[in-house]
Amino acid sequence: MVNDERLVTFLHSLDSGNGPYLDALQAEASGEGVPIIRQEMQSFLQLFLELKKPARILEVGTAVGFSALLMASFTPPDTEITTIENYEKRLVKARKNIASSPWSSRVELLEEDAAAALKRLLQERGEEIYDFIFMDAAKAQYICFLPDVLRLLSPGGVLISDNVLQDGVILESHYAVERRDRTIYKRMREYLYVLKHTEGLVTSIVPIGDGAAVSVKRERA
Ligand code: SAH
Ligand code: MG
Repeated sequence: MVNDERLVTFLHSLDSGNGPYLDALQAEASGEGVPIIRQEMQSFLQLFLELKKPARILEVGTAVGFSALLMASFTPPDTEITTIENYEKRLVKARKNIASSPWSSRVELLEEDAAAALKRLLQERGEEIYDFIFMDAAKAQYICFLPDVLRLLSPGGVLISDNVLQDGVILESHYAVERRDRTIYKRMREYLYVLKHTEGLVTSIVPIGDGAAVSVKRERA
């Protein structure tokens, strides 16, 4: 399902790349084992950006900047992107990759723990200011970030959460999951349940890449 190799190979064969800068960055990140978004997720994100046309995007989990810069490349020059990362080893590369890219003026890197960054954004910039949020950090923390993420999301805003099917682990019974994976498993199941059962939120879970959840915060009547 999520990992049907023939499907993935076929889908990749239809892609024509994202230009020299991003293609080089993707190759470098893959080579170094940095967990950037899977190729099938790229046009999926692009599709929602095209539909939503967000003015401000928030990303939780920058890694080395690939998806933030990809989103910048998919959007017009007045779209602002704020992205959060706290792992110094990745930050060194993210700073450099953003600064030397053609989109540096509209990608803002917040170098701090996401839980703190989200609180600070709410305090300093206010509620409902992002109309597109890409959740792509530590999977066990999604459930903790969610309340603040939803406060930051504007009515009509889109939240896309990546890696929600954990290579299929999420489908296993609790007993079949290795002890070390159980916390992530439990919290991700809870996260998906909450996304599906939160009043005012419409969510569809799609088995693309490593699994994506697409949620829309309904406009108030
Ligand atoms: N969005 C990136 C990939 C992100 S990988 C891309 O597709 O190009 C997930 C990143 O989230 C990792 O670099 C990890 O260091 C970061 N992360 C995990 N937990 C975090 C937290 N609590 N605060 C900030 N960053 C976090
Ligand atoms: Mg991811």
